[in-house]
Amino acid sequence: MELIVIGLIVVFWLLCGTAAAVIANSKGANGGLYFLFGIMFGPFGVLGSLFASGKTCPFCHSRIYAKATVCPRCYRDLAASMPPSAEELKAIRVRVIRDRIGIVCLIVFFIGIFIIGAMFGSQ
Ligand SMILES: [Zn+2]
Repeated sequence: MELIVIGLIVVFWLLCGTAAAVIANSKGANGGLYFLFGIMFGPFGVLGSLFASGKTCPFCHSRIYAKATVCPRCYRDLAASMPPSAEELKAIRVRVIRDRIGIVCLIVFFIGIFIIGAMFGSQ
């Protein structure tokens, strides 16, 4: 029983780390760093990630590092002023959607583990 409680706490803390990383990443901040914050400070790390900063890529409109010179999502040079072609935009959208599906799957996976753990823990 105690082991299950400890397991649930560990999963909850991992969930906080993942949530903080996802939020920080979406805002263009360092996801790995905020994952550590989430692991260390739990819900407070998630709260902290809400204040993470970044800027918006002019090509794919995703949140990226404030100091980035090349967008990590669409790989475009931010110093260049040429807008992307229709084909490039389509490829970018596919990549962004694929990334989001991956993140959602990860969150669902952790929530699933948490629910299964809670179900077994209550028995
Ligand atoms: Zn971009």
